[in-house]
Amino acid sequence: MPNINLNTEEPLIMHIDLNSAFATIEQQSRPSLRNKPIGVTNRISKNCCVIAASYQAKRLGIKVGMPLSEAKRIAPGFIILESDPAKYHYIYQKLIAIMKKYSPDIKMKSIDEGIIDFHSTRSNINTNPLEIIGYEIKNTIKREIGSIVTVNIGIGPNQFLAKVAASLHKPDGMDIINHRNLLNVYQSLKLTDLPGIAEHYQARLNASNIFSPIDFLNATSDTLKRTVFNSIIGEDWYYRLRGFEMDNIQTKLGQVGRQWVLNKPTGENNVLTSALQYLCQTTGKKLRYENVDARGVLVWLNLVGGEGWYQRKMFKTSFYSDYDIYRRAVYLLNQRPAGTTVQAMGITCYGLSKTNRHQISLFDEINKTERLTDAIDIINENYGVFKILSANSLMGDKLIKQKIPFGGTEYFQLLISSS
Ligand SMILES: [Mg+2]
Repeated sequence: MPNINLNTEEPLIMHIDLNSAFATIEQQSRPSLRNKPIGVTNRISKNCCVIAASYQAKRLGIKVGMPLSEAKRIAPGFIILESDPAKYHYIYQKLIAIMKKYSPDIKMKSIDEGIIDFHSTRSNINTNPLEIIGYEIKNTIKREIGSIVTVNIGIGPNQFLAKVAASLHKPDGMDIINHRNLLNVYQSLKLTDLPGIAEHYQARLNASNIFSPIDFLNATSDTLKRTVFNSIIGEDWYYRLRGFEMDNIQTKLGQVGRQWVLNKPTGENNVLTSALQYLCQTTGKKLRYENVDARGVLVWLNLVGGEGWYQRKMFKTSFYSDYDIYRRAVYLLNQRPAGTTVQAMGITCYGLSKTNRHQISLFDEINKTERLTDAIDIINENYGVFKILSANSLMGDKLIKQKIPFGGTEYFQLLISSS
């Protein structure tokens, strides 16, 4: 066995995932639906799809994403309900409250999934083995959320392995992945069982002779970076697979960013750069509003088929103007693999520090940029946002709309912060 350099740290990340959340919540609130094949959709219509299914429905072969007509054909007794966001929001808040009892470092990954980071509380508050705490949380959820609500719990040294662990035994499972059993776990999985690896990346991995998680683990950082992912994302995978935390960039560094969904998925460069420019303008405005400068830029894409790509870079000097952000962002965007069709994109500026731009600059150019940027901000402030845009982004706001992802947390965070 080559030296594979696994992270040998004690696993302190816990991933909690409500099982069949929407369907179970409906069954919890309406006892007559319990033990029945039920599903949830956004709005019932002839062509609607199942967005959540109870375990009884899943056992009959009904899958999430399946058209209602097909589900009815498989199971004539299948009951479909319209989604009830108010109910799910209530459960979401309950889950957050339970998780917060264990650590201030929690993060919701979607409406029914979250992580607890035990690092800061291990020595004083949470001294029990994490498995014991896991069972305690399962019981608390039954008591405080609902008697039929179950969760999968995964414990690992990083967010990635905690999520893998939470997927091993559904429903109501609990697994720990550490450096001792990691190889055994990988041996039991397919590439597409790994969170973040769907068909598109599977094909790219296969093209580099990587057919299993073990092959993936044995690939060099350089192969992953240069051949497979064509991005620093490949290097991140090298460490992520070994249990090192690579998914904390947003919480650790402090960041300002914007994300949008394209109305129509596209791979066209002029459409993407136009959308990107629009994102850079809104991000720049936010940076200046917060009185910070950035040194790092991260550009991410959600591709058709559900996979993601990103590229990031820390720069030597800090920046704050729309143009400086855009120049860097487009440099990163241009490194995306050829032929990708983009569904959503985002930009994050990180490496933030308090701005020094109101000091007199020795360099006239910098002062010019500053004055121009300030002037544009003032005009937009007084006459509505984006009265002044650079020509290329005029197309941008027609092509993109603000992202309110169904499974994402932003919408709910917004509700929470406004209530
Ligand atoms: Mg779930």
